[in-house]
Amino acid sequence: MKIVLLGPPGAGKGTQAEKISRKYKLQYIDTGGILRKNENTKTKKGTPHKYIKKGILVPDYIVIEFILPFIKRAAKQNFILDGFPRSLKQVKLLEKITAIDIALYLEVNQKELIERISGRWICRNCDITYHIKLKPPKKEGICDVCGEKLTQREDDRPKIIRKRTRVFNKSLKPVIKYYEKRSILKRIDANRELKEVWKDIQEIVNKIK
Ligand code: AMP
Repeated sequence: MKIVLLGPPGAGKGTQAEKISRKYKLQYIDTGGILRKNENTKTKKGTPHKYIKKGILVPDYIVIEFILPFIKRAAKQNFILDGFPRSLKQVKLLEKITAIDIALYLEVNQKELIERISGRWICRNCDITYHIKLKPPKKEGICDVCGEKLTQREDDRPKIIRKRTRVFNKSLKPVIKYYEKRSILKRIDANRELKEVWKDIQEIVNKIK
């Protein structure tokens, strides 16, 4: 089973993708996480960090260099892709590698998104995301897994969030349309609590298993 998970920043993609990956034994590929891990690596088009900090998409040249090898390797088995494809060009790149069974689209309204993202804290070591209200760590400011101090992402500031949401809406529209036409798009109302969203996801995935 090969799944892509689409949704604006703050829709809860990371949390749901981890759950899906664990329950259905799918390899989890988080493109934002991969790019952040390589954010200071120099390429002909500059470092990934140069784009991430502004809230704009990293150019395909860099995406191809850092992300495609992961997808190619994972395509031999089953996977869940979080954060890819983010443009029609990336849809075509992915199609050349493998066919997708289902595209889950987590829809959330703008106000809810800003609230969610501004409460988000991450562990740079494990790349795990916490949230002050929705998913708090056991000890405030400390990662449950490795004990590292949690930090806020540079691109999680309100001004950059708004930019990322705009970028997302513009570049993702044709992606959504594309999967809709192919009848593999499933819209999920992600304004609700995590467990309700998770319940809907399982119902959908269980049908295609
Ligand atoms: P995310 O963690 O998915 O919100 O991604 C954080 C940032 O990483 C985005 O704002 C982009 O700058 C970059 N990024 C992640 N995935 C992609 C992608 N598929 N194509 C281009 N840029 C990406």
